[in-house]
Amino acid sequence: MVLPADGLIQLTPEGLYCPAAEAWIDPWRPVSRALITHGHADHARPGCGEYWAVRSGEGVLQQRLGAGITLTGVDYGEVRRLGGAVVSFHSAGHVLGSAQIRISAGGESWLISGDYKRDDDPSCAPFEPVAADVLITEATFGLPIYRWRPGHQVAAEILAWWREAPQQPSLLFAYAFGKAQRLLAELAALGLEEEVLLHGAVQALMAPYRSAGVALPPTRPLSEFPRGESLAGRLVIAPPSAHRSPWMKRFKAPRTAFVSGWMAVRGARRRRGFERGFALSDHADWDGLLRTVRDTGAGQVYVTHGNSDGLARFLREERGLAAEPLGRAFEGLESEEGEMEGAAAASVP
Ligand SMILES: [Zn+2]
Ligand SMILES: [Zn+2]
Repeated sequence: MVLPADGLIQLTPEGLYCPAAEAWIDPWRPVSRALITHGHADHARPGCGEYWAVRSGEGVLQQRLGAGITLTGVDYGEVRRLGGAVVSFHSAGHVLGSAQIRISAGGESWLISGDYKRDDDPSCAPFEPVAADVLITEATFGLPIYRWRPGHQVAAEILAWWREAPQQPSLLFAYAFGKAQRLLAELAALGLEEEVLLHGAVQALMAPYRSAGVALPPTRPLSEFPRGESLAGRLVIAPPSAHRSPWMKRFKAPRTAFVSGWMAVRGARRRRGFERGFALSDHADWDGLLRTVRDTGAGQVYVTHGNSDGLARFLREERGLAAEPLGRAFEGLESEEGEMEGAAAASVP
């Protein structure tokens, strides 16, 4: 493994481990104490003895892991002592309650960024730059071809696409936790007051967002929409797994679109069979990754996910940093948000 065997943070079969805090960060297997960056399935797994997470993400974690989990809620920036280490959670700007985790002990600090983005998102707190000696960063979109446009621009295009076809239902596929609520918040910011219909998987995550005070348009689960009533002209949001599933039978002549960072790549769009693709991501783009590495001031960087080899090489050769990919341990850890990571990343030169 690349991480030093006696370091503040180590790589174990359960995932990233801090012996000083006796805690794992986003562990892959059940452990005694898990510090959770956010509620996506590849970061928050069931079966741990105790969980630590940001307070605004508590509702999502309980929704996904069960109301009975032992959960300690921490505010952004609050400093906690855990064993011999000092731990704090800082906003990652990724989804509701998402955090970067900073751990320090013995005069050394590490930042485990989890998933993060630098772009404005009306559905969650903005990214907070945090200083650290060592950074562990993702590289899901770690190629210079990935550069995002502002979310409100993409949302305005989605609104225009929807309005274009009042005779048909418009089905928008977006990851159920994070992306769907971000879209709804962007649409609300554009003044949308019309009801949006939701697939059950999206509906399940609405309560935590509403109780966090995120401004959203009215929504209704599709299951509560009267069977006989026409769906023409309605906007419906569903997870990508519902595309071409029996769930689609309910719609007469629907139009489909997929909202994902991968839609920036033409081939990915064609392969998935969606009529339209809107490129919007909750991960950092190329510039966002480089800016974050710089903002931390870290001299040592470890890179996980996506183009980890390429980003690490760029940081070494162009930025003069000690940078290395964190190895294959992280590859193949897929989630609903990352379900296309393998396929799409492989197709990109
Ligand atoms: Zn995530
Ligand atoms: Zn992830």
